[in-house]
Amino acid sequence: MLKFYLETFGCQMNQLDSELVDTLLRGIEYERVDTWDGADLVLFNTCSVREHAESKVYSRLGVLRQVKLKRPGMIIAVIGCMAEQEGKTIAERNRHVDVICGPGQLHLLAGLIQQAAQWKKRAVALTGKFASMSTPLEVAVPYGRVEDLDRERTSSGQTNAFQAYVRITRGCNKFCAYCVVPHTRGREVHRSPEEILVEAKRLAEAGAVEMTLLGQTVNHWQHEYGDGRRVGFAELLKMVHDAVPSVRRLRFVTSYPRDFTVETLQVMAESPRISRYLHIPAQSGSDAVLQRMNRGYTAEQYLGLIERAKQIVPGLRLAGDMIVGFCGETDADAEASLELMRRVRYMNCYMFKYSPRAGTTAARQYEDDVPEAVKQERHAAMFTLQNSICLENNRGMIGRTVEVLVAGPSKMMGRAADVKARTRAVGELQLSGRTAGDQVVVFDGPLGLVGRFVPVLVEDATTLTLHGTASR
Ligand code: SF4
Repeated sequence: MLKFYLETFGCQMNQLDSELVDTLLRGIEYERVDTWDGADLVLFNTCSVREHAESKVYSRLGVLRQVKLKRPGMIIAVIGCMAEQEGKTIAERNRHVDVICGPGQLHLLAGLIQQAAQWKKRAVALTGKFASMSTPLEVAVPYGRVEDLDRERTSSGQTNAFQAYVRITRGCNKFCAYCVVPHTRGREVHRSPEEILVEAKRLAEAGAVEMTLLGQTVNHWQHEYGDGRRVGFAELLKMVHDAVPSVRRLRFVTSYPRDFTVETLQVMAESPRISRYLHIPAQSGSDAVLQRMNRGYTAEQYLGLIERAKQIVPGLRLAGDMIVGFCGETDADAEASLELMRRVRYMNCYMFKYSPRAGTTAARQYEDDVPEAVKQERHAAMFTLQNSICLENNRGMIGRTVEVLVAGPSKMMGRAADVKARTRAVGELQLSGRTAGDQVVVFDGPLGLVGRFVPVLVEDATTLTLHGTASR
């Protein structure tokens, strides 16, 4: 069997794409390995949202240039958003890259790899600004479109079968001024309710007890039947909830504020197995910045939605994304973002310094005029605020018992700070898992608890983690 090494950068959508690629490659007699040493095929599933993720890929490609001199038969593939966005540069500067494939063309990947291997010629499948299409070799099991990969997916053994992603939409129509996604993943494609339900049931039968519906703007999902009847995201959520009773946690990410309906909140409130968790990015608390970002709402509209959500779904946990230093952001705009965060009190917030992404409206039309030092200062202020909110939220959990889905050994295992290790019982490790509200919990227990729901009494808390003891 041939060996492949696959490294994934970026969001959950990329993680899912990697699972699909994993299935596809196993279908053409490849097996997965943990390092690129000795691999016949090396793939990077890339992300273009931040400069940092792109730099990492270029650095990996630099190292592989030398490796390929010694092993010229090795195939190197760059797939995903960076392939679509940077395809031309990758091709020109990296002659050793054999396959370049955008996220909307992954169904062609097997043929592209075989073409590169047999013809010793680069194979490309891109549809964006660098549109270019090789004719992939015919493969035994051809896929007609990307969604066919979702349908054929099997659990890879690399990911936890008890936690499953189900893509319900791909692409995005929103064109936020800073974002590359509509350029790299294209316009929204919504899968049919039937396809989604079949896949959800299949994954539940394979052992999934936590299921996450995925979409760049997941709550914008909609479907029109042949007779003109329309269903929206709230109905789909209810359908999936009712179709997979063995799934104890049903979640969805990422929500787009403008499209979020009261009906969806009501379905969440009425359905005990839907997690009371929303990842719903605001990006800024300043109306002027939100307008330049083309987000389609004001800070008050966003806060009104959050208020309604907290009322309708008691105990709701919120996660957000914020950008600091977007074009034209003033001190007052930055303070407005902090004020929004004080009012929302996110349980978790991903905070980024703005950097222009080629091809976006912001990169074309606005000046990146906030100096790096100011971005850094505003980012630090935001970070300090969010840390204090996280710590207060987490300390409020001390004394409560939470249900944890155990994911595996904790990353803190073996660190000097892990003082409990000295008193740990024989056969026990420090395990880590998450609550339904996505809080990380660590506690001691045997490895056999992985994949199980365990009640844990919270005894201590830091900004990022709850520490406790499992109730036996
Ligand atoms: S909603 Fe905006 S930020 Fe989110 S993927 Fe679409 S364009 Fe990007």
